[in-house]
Amino acid sequence: MADKQFDLVVIGGGPGGYAAAIRAAQLKMSVMLIDDRQSDEGTPAPGGTCLNVGCVPSKALLDSSKHFHHIQHEYKDHGIRVKDVEMDIEQMLNRKQGVVKQLNSGLIQLFKANKITFANGKGRLLADRQVEVTTDEGTQTVAGEHVILAAGSVPFTIPGVDIDNTHIVDNEGALALSETPKKLGVIGAGVIGLELGSVWRRLGAEVTLFEAADAFLPVVDDDMSRVAAREFKKQGLDIRLGTKVSGAKVSRSKVKVAYSDGDKDHEATFDRLLVAVGRRAASENLLADDSGVALTDRGQVDVNDQCQTSAPQVWAIGDLVRGPMLAHKASEEGIAVAETIAGHHGHFNLDTVPWVIYTDPEIAWVGQTEQALKAAGIDYRSGSFPFAATGRGLAMGDAAGHVKLLADAETDRLLGAQIIGPQASELIGECVVTMEFAGSSEDLARIVHAHPTLSEAVHEAALAVDGRAIHKAN
Ligand code: FAD
Ligand code: NAD
Repeated sequence: MADKQFDLVVIGGGPGGYAAAIRAAQLKMSVMLIDDRQSDEGTPAPGGTCLNVGCVPSKALLDSSKHFHHIQHEYKDHGIRVKDVEMDIEQMLNRKQGVVKQLNSGLIQLFKANKITFANGKGRLLADRQVEVTTDEGTQTVAGEHVILAAGSVPFTIPGVDIDNTHIVDNEGALALSETPKKLGVIGAGVIGLELGSVWRRLGAEVTLFEAADAFLPVVDDDMSRVAAREFKKQGLDIRLGTKVSGAKVSRSKVKVAYSDGDKDHEATFDRLLVAVGRRAASENLLADDSGVALTDRGQVDVNDQCQTSAPQVWAIGDLVRGPMLAHKASEEGIAVAETIAGHHGHFNLDTVPWVIYTDPEIAWVGQTEQALKAAGIDYRSGSFPFAATGRGLAMGDAAGHVKLLADAETDRLLGAQIIGPQASELIGECVVTMEFAGSSEDLARIVHAHPTLSEAVHEAALAVDGRAIHKAN
């Protein structure tokens, strides 16, 4: 018999779980949210991977390190000379933690304001939507009319590479290094490897990225990955494609890495090694044997399009299930599930989830790539436009990259957008809106864009689909 009954019990307080809990509370449900994460001081730290050791702290360090890099390398061009630039990593890390803490306590306020019962502990789903909740105060069992599983993900590890978060680190350790390593090795030139590799490169580390795949960033449009590879090379990121790491050992404060380039085995020595080889669903210890929830062979909770699991009225969202591992994807799924439970029409479209890699230049995309359209045999027209041909990009002194749009050859419906360049993370928004409303490249081309702005590159790329860009020869 459960100690308490709720309309909804949510396990996991990341961007998926907390958004679902807040939306359900707005819809007048009684909600319990269980999240196990604590700060170093032992206080509750809701917000999941994203807020505590992911999106937010990485962007704080990306911004700080970008300032440091710009003041040394870009300001001169603007006629600003700065002498004696010093790095204060302790302050950088304190600022980052300050941002995280502010958002942690903001969430706790929001839980109170929405009358959500928040438990800082572990949740485990039992049979019949009963949930065992273990906190510092003990264990209780609660029951939910509905349960949402939102336990997120944890980093993959490689056999023979033991993460100690001192010398061999994952994302958590890489966001807390107390000094710049002279030599940083990174396993995986994916999203985390590139973002965190960029942070430490800008702060002065020699950064080598080992990437098992032969192609660089194969998920993005080929044109975009070519520009990215060129820009990262200029910045001094040493990206070694086709190299697979098989082991790493710590000895006398150094890390020896064993890797193969397909032909030969090699060894390299670093001061620190970041392991960034993907993440897996955090489904371990989440489900009792008789919970009725099925997992896929990859350990994800198996769900249908509405995020329903195999157990009635048990739902699962975010990194725990199929689809991209992104915070906004998790949140939108959570909101859609809460609305569906309340009898509304929960809307969520996996086809229009934007991606952003927050490097310099930023890389953002939504929908299809040109290579995917070719492979699918879909007839398309494309238009691209370089930031170097925009007044704003040149005025800012930040004009590497381009916008590329892909539209259906017959209907002109926008099928994909790829943006590499300044503020790509913000510019992708209007492409997402256009695609969500089934808009065409002509729709984008007919919208007035302010001058001088970077968004004019999106406008010109839309015009270029029809061969009528104004500021470039078509
Ligand atoms: P999570 O955020 O992982 O939250 C799940 C929470 O549940 C965690 O706090 C976990 O401790 C808790 N939990 C797990 N099991 C239990 C249990 N049994 N009981 C109670 N609590 C439990 N995405 C972006 O969109 N943009 C970015 O810029 C971005 N940057 C990233 C940078 C890094 C370094 C990393 C690692 C990830 C980044 N991501 C980014 C991905 C993003 O963090 C995830 O997609 C997102 O956090 C997933 O949300 P979620 O709610 O599914 O899970
Ligand atoms: P990833 O899948 O982006 O990249 C991992 C890379 O490691 C791959 O390219 C893979 O080929 C390579 N790899 C695997 N094993 C290897 C080996 N033994 N040797 C060399 N290379 C190897 O994964 P990630 O960078 O760990 O990030 C995990 C997820 O977190 C991302 O997929 C993304 O969903 C999320 N994330 C998002 C953002 C963002 O939105 N800006 C930022 C960081 C993380």
